[in-house]
Amino acid sequence: MVWSRDIKRLEDHRAVSLIKTREGDALAGVLMIDMRSGEFRLVNARAVLLATGGGPTMYKFHTPSGDKSCDGMAMALRAELPLRDIEMVQFHPTGLLAGPDTRITGTVLEEGLRGAGGYLLDGDRQRFMARYDPRAERATRDIVSRAMLREIQSGNVSPLGGLYLQMSHLGPDNVRAQFKGMVERCADCGFDLAGGLVEVVPTAHYMMGGVEFAPDTTTAVRGLYAAGEDTGGVHGANRLGGNGVANSTVFGCIAGDVIGSNLNTARPHLDPDEDSISTAVAACRAPLSKPAGEIGALRERLYDLMWNDVGIIRDARGLKRAELALEDLHAELLDCGVDGTSLAFNLSWHDWLNMESLVLVSRAIACSALARNNSRGAHYREDFVDAGELDASSYVRVTLSDGRLESEEVPVEFTKVRPGETLLERTS
Ligand SMILES: Cc1cc2nc3c(=O)[nH]c(=O)nc-3n(C[C@H](O)[C@H](O)[C@H](O)COP(=O)(O)OP(=O)(O)OC[C@H]3O[C@@H](n4cnc5c(N)ncnc54)[C@H](O)[C@@H]3O)c2cc1C
Repeated sequence: MVWSRDIKRLEDHRAVSLIKTREGDALAGVLMIDMRSGEFRLVNARAVLLATGGGPTMYKFHTPSGDKSCDGMAMALRAELPLRDIEMVQFHPTGLLAGPDTRITGTVLEEGLRGAGGYLLDGDRQRFMARYDPRAERATRDIVSRAMLREIQSGNVSPLGGLYLQMSHLGPDNVRAQFKGMVERCADCGFDLAGGLVEVVPTAHYMMGGVEFAPDTTTAVRGLYAAGEDTGGVHGANRLGGNGVANSTVFGCIAGDVIGSNLNTARPHLDPDEDSISTAVAACRAPLSKPAGEIGALRERLYDLMWNDVGIIRDARGLKRAELALEDLHAELLDCGVDGTSLAFNLSWHDWLNMESLVLVSRAIACSALARNNSRGAHYREDFVDAGELDASSYVRVTLSDGRLESEEVPVEFTKVRPGETLLERTS
């Protein structure tokens, strides 16, 4: 229905900055780059829905496509909006490991494979999951990913440095019939999922954290709404498969209703703060006036440091090391130029902008992970392995102020269930 209406859509436009009013008390619009020309365009709006979808692509192995760069969370931080739960990054156990030369590496092999009875094997082709959890391969994503990382760290690995997924014991014909798409994806990379072994590695998949928002999708800035993977607080520290799309659909729908009804009350377009626009344009254009550098090498460094020090298993030493490394990386990024001869679909420029967002959100993840001195859900601290006092739970809020990230612990308010309680009724 929306597509059939006469609504002007801005195709190939990338949002780069949330622009407030001069007083800073409300949103006036969004600054965008028309990727077809490289021109900047301010969209003056009475309401803006932030829904750019997160996606932890700062890790060496990740499932979302490479064009996801956490722009929404980065724009929110720059607009002084708080993020919450941002340390909660979910790793999916079975990312396809197809070598460094293909972008298929990291893409996901679905949960149903383990659910149907698939085995994970170490480099000696032995099952290991039962040593970590009685549910073995059917344990939750965080537990399986952690166990896999421990096995990988022990050095008993497959030729590409991962582990194996085996389905053949369920009958190759059965596997081919049940998991046609997965069999084809593996075949594209030279693996026989139905009858042989496939190399796998845990892979960064989903961000439970994001912009703090209210159940009606409003945020701390008047006129700005948020929904979907850009937001935090819906899942807590972990997420069940399937709840990502549910989150986006439910809150996207609420946002539509709430924005629609709020716009019914006459609210004028607000004047944007012109200085904020100039500052944002200058920040985006900064690399265009510097000699072209090696943006790809910076991205590789980001991948490695996030994977090694802010990944599946963390500790204070690694997180502090990562914070320093991210500061260095950011300084080098600011010195790294991009050929600006043509701005039409200038992918190097957009890679630079991707990095700018990813490094900022990576800093927020490291800061938040360092502030949480316990292990919960997807966040595991080797130096604080216990979950801590559940009744006194708090979440971590991170804000950006004058270029510095600050964290604070916010007590969790239990409004429906307390730890140990359930809303489910037992049936016999
Ligand atoms: C491989 C994979 C498999 C998944 N499988 C499942 C599953 O089976 N079940 C499930 O529940 N969840 C799954 N998820 C998670 C789920 O897909 C996401 O959580 C969900 O799509 C997020 O929805 P969203 O609307 O918030 O964002 P998205 O669906 O990511 O949409 C965001 C949109 O914003 C655009 N955008 C981004 N940045 C900008 C910018 N700066 N300016 C303008 N536009 C921008 C993007 O191009 C995109 O179109 C999966 C995720 C991945 C990566």
